[in-house]
Amino acid sequence: MVSAPVTKAARGEGRLPHASMSPSRWLLPDAVLWNGQLLRGAAVEVSSDGFLLSAGPLPPAAGVERLPGRLLLPGLVDVHSHAFQRTLRGRTQARSPDVEVDDFWTWREAMYRAAMTLDPEGVYVASRQCFLEMALAGITSVGEFHYLHHQPDGRPYAEPLELALQVIRAARDVGLRIVLLRAGYTRAGYMAAPNPRQVRFYDATPEAWLRAAADLRARTAQDTLVTVGIAPHSVRAVPRAWLEAAATSGESLVHMHVAEQPEEVVVCQAEYGRRPVELLADVGLLGEGFTAVHAVHTMPHERELLRDASVCACPSTERDLGDGVLAADGMARAGARLCIGTDSQATLDCFDELRMLEGSLRLTRGRRAVLDAPEGPDGLGQLLLGVASENGARALGLPTGVLRPGAPADLCTVDLNHPSLIGAPANALLATVVFSAEVAAVRDVAVQGQWVVRDGRHRLGDTSARAYGELCRRVFQA
Ligand SMILES: [Zn+2]
Repeated sequence: MVSAPVTKAARGEGRLPHASMSPSRWLLPDAVLWNGQLLRGAAVEVSSDGFLLSAGPLPPAAGVERLPGRLLLPGLVDVHSHAFQRTLRGRTQARSPDVEVDDFWTWREAMYRAAMTLDPEGVYVASRQCFLEMALAGITSVGEFHYLHHQPDGRPYAEPLELALQVIRAARDVGLRIVLLRAGYTRAGYMAAPNPRQVRFYDATPEAWLRAAADLRARTAQDTLVTVGIAPHSVRAVPRAWLEAAATSGESLVHMHVAEQPEEVVVCQAEYGRRPVELLADVGLLGEGFTAVHAVHTMPHERELLRDASVCACPSTERDLGDGVLAADGMARAGARLCIGTDSQATLDCFDELRMLEGSLRLTRGRRAVLDAPEGPDGLGQLLLGVASENGARALGLPTGVLRPGAPADLCTVDLNHPSLIGAPANALLATVVFSAEVAAVRDVAVQGQWVVRDGRHRLGDTSARAYGELCRRVFQA
C-alpha cells in the first residue's frame, strides 16, 4: 500500500441513489484509509442519511468537521461477543480451591453461575456497559452470539424473545450496529449428564430454535442497524439433526463455536467417528455464510474444508482460557477469511486481538511477520486491520468494513498524537496503530454517520458505569 495524493480518481461516482437531497457534510482528518489507500489531506463526504459518498479535496463553502491529528479508519467489527460475560472480569483469575487444575471447564462453571443470576434488566445493564466499552474501542458492529434465552429454571419469559430484545436494546442505546446470532442449544453433550445450569439456554427442538430466530428477525425488521443470524452453539450443545436443520434452513448467516478445546474433538469423534469440521462438511454447513469461531484444534485437511468460510479468532479469550493458538497462517493460506472477536470480554481491544493473532504465531513459530501480507512496511498492518474491519463485516453479512462510495459511514478515528503513536512513520501508519496503539488512542466513532463517541467520550458513559457497578455489587456481593 502506498500513500496516494488526492485525485479525482479517489472520488465516488457522484451522488448515489440512496443519498437524500439534504446537503452532505465533510470530515477532514489528517489521513484516511479510503478504499484500501491511505489518502492524506482528503476530505470524506457523508450524505445526510449516513452513507459515504466520496473522498477528495474539500470543496469551497462545504460543511466541514475538522478532525485534526486524526487518522480516519473503517469502524472495527467484533464478530464474536457474549456481552454478559463482561461481568466475569476479575472474578475468575484465581485458582479454584476445589479443583486440581483450572481450565476452560472450570471457567465455564463460573460463567454458568453468572448466567444464572442475571434478570432481564441485568442482561440489559451488563450488555450496555460491554457495548459502550466496545464503542470506546472503535467498534461499530458487534456479532452477539446470544444463548441466554429463558428464565433461570428454563421456563420461557412471558415475552419469549425477552433477553435477546434486551441485548439488542443495549446495543442500540449505545449506538452500535448489532447482528444477533440466535444460538441453538439443547444438551450438555454427548453422553453427558444434564447440567441444570444450562436450562436457560435450551430450546426443545430445532424448529423451535429456528422459529425464535425468525420471530426475532420479524420483530426487529424496522431497525436497519439490527440483523439476525443463527448459531448452533457447538458440537457439544447440539446433535447432528440440529446442524442439518441449520444447513437446510435457508438462513444465510450461521456462526458456531468449533474445536475450541481438544476434548470437544475427542468426544465428536466418539459420537460420529468424525472431527468437528469433518462433521460440519458432511452436513453441508461450510460455505460463504458460515463462521467457525476459534477453530484452534484443527488439522490441515480441516483448514482446507474451511476455505470458503470465515474463521473468527478470539485471541484474548483463547489466551485467558488456555484454549491454544489458532494456526492463522495455515488457515489463511487455505483460503479462510480471518476475523476477530472479543468473546468473553476479558479485555476489549481489537488492536490487541490483532497483534496477538500474529504475535502468538511468532511465539510458536520462532520468527517474525508470519502472516502472508502484501509487500511494504505497512503491508502487515493493512492486512491485520482488514481482519478487524472488511473481513469482520463479511462474516456478519454487513455492508461496512471498507470506507468507499455507497458504504454506510461506520468509522473511527485514531489520534496520531497519542503517546502510543507519536512519531509513527508516515509509510507505516497502519502497522503502528495495529502493533502499538493503546485503545485510548481511539477518539471518535460514528455508526451510519452518527457520532457515537466524540473525543473519547460517550454520552451514556457515567449513567452506564453507575448502573453496571450497582448490578455487580448486587449480583456478586463484591
Ligand atoms: Zn464464544
